[in-house]
Amino acid sequence: MLLLLIVLKYRWLFLSRNVLVYIFCLSTILLLACGPVAPSEQPVAVPSQTTIDSDLVPFLEAYLADASATGAPVGHERLDELKMLVWRDSIQAAGADAGVILGRCRRFNENAKDPSQRFRVVEIARPDHQQMVGGIRIDSLTLKTILYHELGHCLHDFRGHRPVGEGSIMSGELPAERFHDFDKLRHSHFQLMRKQKSSR
Ligand SMILES: [Zn+2]
Repeated sequence: MLLLLIVLKYRWLFLSRNVLVYIFCLSTILLLACGPVAPSEQPVAVPSQTTIDSDLVPFLEAYLADASATGAPVGHERLDELKMLVWRDSIQAAGADAGVILGRCRRFNENAKDPSQRFRVVEIARPDHQQMVGGIRIDSLTLKTILYHELGHCLHDFRGHRPVGEGSIMSGELPAERFHDFDKLRHSHFQLMRKQKSSR
């Protein structure tokens, strides 16, 4: 993990800003696999249209409303970059050899000079008929936590994770606090998003 963090910190050393690169940044929950960056010679084509799975729309709308209400609104440019918010039957991450991946934010063409070539995709692991993913029950609060986590990566551009046990939505593991006081968890999440936004 330390190696992963070092690679993340110095990843710009490995990239040329003059070359369009394929950014493959995985931001997962339950498994700390944000990064690594895998440059490619070819940029990835931008989807011609935005795809939001219908039953995930309410989560996106709730996130945007909560973000605005707490002083950390999502910018239009960032929202435009979100080209997909979709279910996936399974999510495999490069280098992932343990843990369960419940969702991820993928960033593409991140170094493209033309902003219209940059886009992001959020994938959410689809529960089975028993509402389970890898032994984890995906109840409504858990699903909301997963969505807020990945949207924190993709819409607020939060990189990496907060420490496990901190009780943060941006922890690499699901916070147990979601069952106790989701409103408090949500509030601290957007405080974090606002803080990192103002620090830039
Ligand atoms: Zn993550």
